[in-house]
Amino acid sequence: MNQKQQKEKYDLLVIGGGPSGMMAAGVAAENGKKVLLLEKNSELGKKLKITGGGRCNITNATYDVRSFLLKFGDAGKFLHSTFSQFDIRDTFTFFESRDLPMKIEPGNRAFPKTEKALDVFKVMEKYIDHKNITVLKNCSVEKISVAKQKGVVNSVETNKGIYVADNYIIATGGTSHPETGSTGDGFGWLEKIGHSVHTTSPNIVPLKVRDKWVKSLSGTSLSDIKITFSVNNKRIFSRTGKILFTHFGISGPLILNSAHRVSDMLHEGIVTATIDTYPKIDIGVLEKNILGIFDENKNKSFKNIIKQIAPNGLTQTILDLNIIKDPEVKVHSVSKEQRKELANALKSLSMQIVDLMGMDRAVVSGGGIPLEEIDTKTMRSKIFSNLYLTGDILHINRPSGGYSLQLCWTTGHVAGTLQ
Ligand SMILES: Cc1cc2nc3c(=O)[nH]c(=O)nc-3n(C[C@H](O)[C@H](O)[C@H](O)COP(=O)(O)OP(=O)(O)OC[C@H]3O[C@@H](n4cnc5c(N)ncnc54)[C@H](O)[C@@H]3O)c2cc1C
Repeated sequence: MNQKQQKEKYDLLVIGGGPSGMMAAGVAAENGKKVLLLEKNSELGKKLKITGGGRCNITNATYDVRSFLLKFGDAGKFLHSTFSQFDIRDTFTFFESRDLPMKIEPGNRAFPKTEKALDVFKVMEKYIDHKNITVLKNCSVEKISVAKQKGVVNSVETNKGIYVADNYIIATGGTSHPETGSTGDGFGWLEKIGHSVHTTSPNIVPLKVRDKWVKSLSGTSLSDIKITFSVNNKRIFSRTGKILFTHFGISGPLILNSAHRVSDMLHEGIVTATIDTYPKIDIGVLEKNILGIFDENKNKSFKNIIKQIAPNGLTQTILDLNIIKDPEVKVHSVSKEQRKELANALKSLSMQIVDLMGMDRAVVSGGGIPLEEIDTKTMRSKIFSNLYLTGDILHINRPSGGYSLQLCWTTGHVAGTLQ
């Protein structure tokens, strides 16, 4: 089908079949609009299907919109009118009324009860299976043509021809996990036609570490630990929770949500992260506890009691520090200085953060189109009166925890109403 063949007159053309594009297309169709949805992959929702480790953290059940929007920093103030039209409760209603009950986990993270991202996708797939929607897969948009003086988008060029509609939504996502189709195409077009684009960088992303002890713990996770990030030995911030060790460094929600700040710190100097494995007690109490364990096990070898001292998974790491050279040594022979050193190590295991991991491992990319250039009441571009933007293409910093998908549901819903 090319422009000549395009018999149908479309009210709306949506580029990108991710969560925000599908939501927008569905809403428009429900309102009686004829919609054409173009997706360059052979399937829709490729990224949606891998969200939340395959479980899909669909939203964050912080129902009070004001509190919810605080998580978006400066961008939050632009989003009140957007969320007044479709908020967190609306997301619950949307999915639960389509036979997808949800459950809430710590941190207000909401998941489908089935714990399957695929089930979330299926709801969206069914939603857009509508007589008013034509879906074209394997259709890659290459260019957008505009009449700048009139402030309108005229048409889009694709590998399958040129398509025309009264309105356009760009929902091509950011640049994280590019293998899912989010290769940042929308940024290029939007910059060419006059929008500004904040440089994209990995945002919610694991951290790269070279220290051998970290890599040797690959696959281990530690709960209830405190991690302190410093630049050139100056403490910048600390977080407490769970971290996951990987073959390249450290990950887990706590780390992903620290990456944005660490990224800035990496420009300022040498960044270290120090782990306190016993954050609830001070060093004096820890030393006493260790002494107690030593007293009860005087004649055992150090190797045999280390498990009682170091958190699960860390015993070999502590042995490898060589504070006590011979692990077979009887506990009564361990000196006071060695005991103190042991306590110190458990309170301050240090590693150097060398970089953020790349886009291939990022959950979300930072950067994108600034909200100042969008009328956030409608999600319409302030430059082109028939152009709307949704989802990850927008420059909104946010933590992990369901916030990104909620942004997709909300911006997609609002844009799809074509106000
Ligand atoms: C591993 C991972 C896990 C995640 N887990 C969660 C989670 O649990 N909870 C959460 O809230 N968020 C999560 N996210 C973030 C969430 O997936 C994104 O915020 C969301 O997918 C963005 O949706 P979108 O509609 O903006 O774009 P995308 O999902 O990126 O979809 C864009 C679509 O546009 C298509 N496209 C791009 N260019 C073109 C073109 N030129 N022509 C035609 N089509 C094009 C792409 O192929 C793609 O299908 C996760 C992200 C990743 C990578």
